[in-house]
Amino acid sequence: MPPVPDKPVTANYSTQFRSIKNEVSPEEWETRLNLAACYRLTDVYGMTDLIYNHITARIPGDDDHLLINLYGLLYREITASSLVKIDLEGNILWKPDTDYGINKSGYVIHGAIHRARPEVKCVLHTHTRAGMAVSSMKRGLLPMTQTSMRFVGHHGYHDYEGPAIDLAERERLVRDLGPHDTLILRNHGLLTCGASVQQAFNTMYQLEMACRAQVDALAGGQDIVLPPEEVIAHTANLYQPGTRRPYGVLEWHAMLRLLDAESKNSGYPPYWH
Ligand SMILES: [Zn+2]
Repeated sequence: MPPVPDKPVTANYSTQFRSIKNEVSPEEWETRLNLAACYRLTDVYGMTDLIYNHITARIPGDDDHLLINLYGLLYREITASSLVKIDLEGNILWKPDTDYGINKSGYVIHGAIHRARPEVKCVLHTHTRAGMAVSSMKRGLLPMTQTSMRFVGHHGYHDYEGPAIDLAERERLVRDLGPHDTLILRNHGLLTCGASVQQAFNTMYQLEMACRAQVDALAGGQDIVLPPEEVIAHTANLYQPGTRRPYGVLEWHAMLRLLDAESKNSGYPPYWH
């Protein structure tokens, strides 16, 4: 008979987290709510990759502190109180009572951008099918739909260098993002950031839809028609967040109502816990 251990190896992987609403500042709690909602919405719109990827947000008034997901949870399991507080280096400052930790190597991309771009409040990274597909296409994102035209002149490309990101690559990543809110990581996936969680989510949603449309159109095998360059440039300008209105703000209440309604028929804890 094989030896039986005295004590079974058990880990605390419960997803029932105690609410910390009354233990953090109102600003931190609001950021936790918005970030947890952002994880849920990323799931609702089909942009998850099992337990992988991250969305990080800066805590207002505490700009060197960020919130990130526990590594091991599905996005639909993430709640406001389950988010881990870290510093810019990725050191854990607070986490709930759990054996889950954070994915420090996954955080590296986020950390590089948060450090280099203080005005960025949220960084969102995905490995969606359409995002990976477009990131691998030589011509990249085509200005073939109204949705994709907003990104013309407002996104960067970062060449793939392997999964481990060292200090030197962090600099190249920041350089490739430049002043933009959108970065296509070649042979890898998509990244957006923004002045708010809401805006970073909205940008990612638009980018994802643009990629899906491009993949569908190219799969159809027909030649793609592109509008004249001046029309593309005019459209790109009109769709910038500052031109008409910020993105994600008007939409956000409807997004939260959607999550509210969905949580009523879900076995998962609501995001606001
Ligand atoms: Zn990735």
